[in-house]
Amino acid sequence: MREGLATPLGESRRVYVVCPVCGHAFRAALASTYITVGREADLCPKIPGRPSDGAQVIRSSVTMCPACSFASGEAFGDLDLTFDERHGIEERLKEDGLLKVFRKGQPPWLGFHAAEVCGKERSLRSRELGDLCLRASWVCRKEKERPFESTFQLRALRHFMRALQEDDLLGRELAVTTYLVGELNRRLGNHREALNWYVNAGRTTEGDPRVAWLDRLIDRQSKLAREEAA
Ligand SMILES: [Zn+2]
Repeated sequence: MREGLATPLGESRRVYVVCPVCGHAFRAALASTYITVGREADLCPKIPGRPSDGAQVIRSSVTMCPACSFASGEAFGDLDLTFDERHGIEERLKEDGLLKVFRKGQPPWLGFHAAEVCGKERSLRSRELGDLCLRASWVCRKEKERPFESTFQLRALRHFMRALQEDDLLGRELAVTTYLVGELNRRLGNHREALNWYVNAGRTTEGDPRVAWLDRLIDRQSKLAREEAA
């Protein structure tokens, strides 16, 4: 059997990992570095090659245990879960409706969904939960899973809104998160909301030259939202 996954950049490596929840040992694709040719307006990386190859690269940023569905964006070896966390995760994975329905079919977004479910039990910050959902929406777009793309955009939006209230975000992270709340609103068809959030995002950058790229993006996407709202 051929090892690794075919990517436009060659073969990504596979490594043995042990699930920190159920102890199952399996081979997982190692998250590989990849070349991007820019980003879309929701910061989805543009990866050379077929969209499904790009989806595969993004998917390798989470690892999911094939036995119990535990998933995380961090390397399994770096996780040190308490007994209570393990128990809580097992319960959540057993009860989760989407996992019950989709576990067998393994749709491309499943690992991100499972990582979000487990992340809640591990008390990940809302910013990180939102990031998992945002990446799930990118994979759905590349794989043309349109209804699920919107589902994950909405979930990312809710986590990012909560992050702005609770996570004490600063600097670039605050600016990018505020911008993404605008951009996700625009993509979900809430153009007025989007415009308000682009204005908020513009205030957070305060002309900082390090985020000049974000100021340009805010200008461009505000114009687009105004046209779409008209
Ligand atoms: Zn497991």
